[in-house]
Amino acid sequence: MNIYSFTKNELENYLIENEFKKFNATQILEWVYLKNIKSFDEMRNVSKVLIEFCKTNFTMETLKLITKHSSKDTVKYLFELTDGNKIECVLMKHNYGNSLCISSQVGCNMGCVFCESGRLKKVRDLSLEELVLQVISVKKEENININSIVIMGIGEPFDNFENIKRFLSVAIDPKMIGIGQRHITVSTCGLVPKIKEFADLDTQVNLAISLHAPNNEIRNQIMKINSAYNINSVMSAVDYYIEKTNRRVTIEYIMLDDINDSEKCAKELVSLLKGKLVYVNLIPYNETSNCQIKRSKDFKVKAFYDILKKNGIECTIRKEMGLKVSAACGQLRALSEVK
Ligand code: SF4
Repeated sequence: MNIYSFTKNELENYLIENEFKKFNATQILEWVYLKNIKSFDEMRNVSKVLIEFCKTNFTMETLKLITKHSSKDTVKYLFELTDGNKIECVLMKHNYGNSLCISSQVGCNMGCVFCESGRLKKVRDLSLEELVLQVISVKKEENININSIVIMGIGEPFDNFENIKRFLSVAIDPKMIGIGQRHITVSTCGLVPKIKEFADLDTQVNLAISLHAPNNEIRNQIMKINSAYNINSVMSAVDYYIEKTNRRVTIEYIMLDDINDSEKCAKELVSLLKGKLVYVNLIPYNETSNCQIKRSKDFKVKAFYDILKKNGIECTIRKEMGLKVSAACGQLRALSEVK
């Protein structure tokens, strides 16, 4: 078993079952996560018996790095999992810290038409270990701290809800990955029951909704999930989340040429969001050769932004990062397949 496959509680229980003490879990995790040891032999304040137990029962392997593409502010990694599947994650170096976007599944079943990742149907969910190891592997590869995490890479996180919950407990634990809850964001395409379950967890972790359209007609064309959970049901789940947590929700809106970028769309989006505790992130689209959809022209993005702003909707245009490193979700894996 990989030591990164346990939550703290799970490791405590495992050690207790094996006649160790609960506090031994914290000791091991401190060495592994905070002191970055490469071998259990390096642990100092623990008994020889515990060191031998760890060496016999646990490994601490990281992910196998296949490719790394870098630009000034972005590094994109392609990792191979032990079963040969590949996943991507992207490091973004902002002036306020390092942010890592991680994947939650191998492939994705949600079928958004503009998405490169969705071209590979879901093969399986990522395990806790594979979620955690994206963070650990990048930290070790670059010798840096990660200041924030977004779960927005390949896959739909809420379609892997149990492991995402376990991952969050590892990510926020100060003796483990140790990132403040408010610096972690989970993004969903709108799995309504899970949005409500997420709200009920009562955490400070941020929620982002991939809305991408102001009405059902457009959303049906570009996001298959809308036939199961339409805009009204997504927005009432957002209301539920805000009421429960009093946290602002990010609305992701990818700007697609002549699809969702008209003035009319902007005004409809205003009506949909007016008065809600939300913030809109307008995302310039990364075109791919596998999809006919084009990115919105800059002047249309600006006009869309102005309409939202003028009507009191908090809004930004996402700074473009990673264009030169094939950082559109799924592009690096796709490139590795055609090579
Ligand atoms: S945008 Fe997200 S949810 Fe939609 S297909 Fe791509 S990875 Fe899946």
